[in-house]
Amino acid sequence: MSIIDPDPEILEARKSLIGDGTEVRRLLPQRVLRTIGAWCFLDHYGPDDVSPPGTGMQVAPHPHTGLQTATWLFDGLVLHRDSLGNEQLIRPGQLNLMTSGRGIAHSEESPLGGAAPSLLHGVQLWIALPRERQFTEPGFAHYEDLPTVSVGEARVTVVVGELEGQRSPAATHTPLVGLEVTLPAGGSVTLATRADFEYGVMCADGPATVAAGGAAASGGAAAPGIEPGMIAHLRTGSNSIALSAAGPNRFFVIGGLPLGERLIMWWNFVARTADEIAAARDSWMTGDGRFGEVHGYHGDPLPAPPLPAGTLIPR
Ligand code: MN
Repeated sequence: MSIIDPDPEILEARKSLIGDGTEVRRLLPQRVLRTIGAWCFLDHYGPDDVSPPGTGMQVAPHPHTGLQTATWLFDGLVLHRDSLGNEQLIRPGQLNLMTSGRGIAHSEESPLGGAAPSLLHGVQLWIALPRERQFTEPGFAHYEDLPTVSVGEARVTVVVGELEGQRSPAATHTPLVGLEVTLPAGGSVTLATRADFEYGVMCADGPATVAAGGAAASGGAAAPGIEPGMIAHLRTGSNSIALSAAGPNRFFVIGGLPLGERLIMWWNFVARTADEIAAARDSWMTGDGRFGEVHGYHGDPLPAPPLPAGTLIPR
């Protein structure tokens, strides 16, 4: 029997620039942690003041393959357009779930005009599609009415998967969970978890503590602290997660069955072989129709960067 380290491992984000130069905190993938379940990418951005003209999100049309993108806002308003012809505003409490399958292109931007709120704050997540569905039909879904549950002092939105018998309508392809947890000042909550899932916890608003509970928990030790820009990784083997915070705080909790395989992630593509990545890049740069076109975005599509000199290997 292996020895389980029950304490969350705390990892710090890398700062990265996207699109127009917006700084994001990249919580996944990390050198030492590539995936949490099938969740393979997590960027946390904001809160940013996007009221001055010329500021805000401007992510020009770009392609995806082999994954689903999940867009979740803590504050603000974002306009999604894709090559299937979808045009969708998203607000806090709603989920945009785009299935790239073999190929789709999309843009995301702060809408023009006076209606947009001044703050922009959210997370961008990717979910790796299982090998047998990585080239499935592309699709897009917007979920406005997600189930919410009161647990202890927390209000929890079930974004993906299930909690306390409430199931999200979001269609994913591997066992996963995604939860937004809102705690009042001084609040705490213990969430039931699956012992066969691993979990990641990030907080949006301020310092917080995270501890794993249950059979594998050490007990007695002070719960590790996180703050925005950090992610706590909880390995399999526990059956609860305890969260607390001194100030009002929002958390995003992701979890799933450990993926058990390595992926090649390059630019906006998830694949299993270097040839699949090269073919996707070629399709985007030649415009052969695989990814389609995004209409209505004011600006040019993003060109793919050059492929690296060495061979892309699964990590
Ligand atoms: Mn994208």
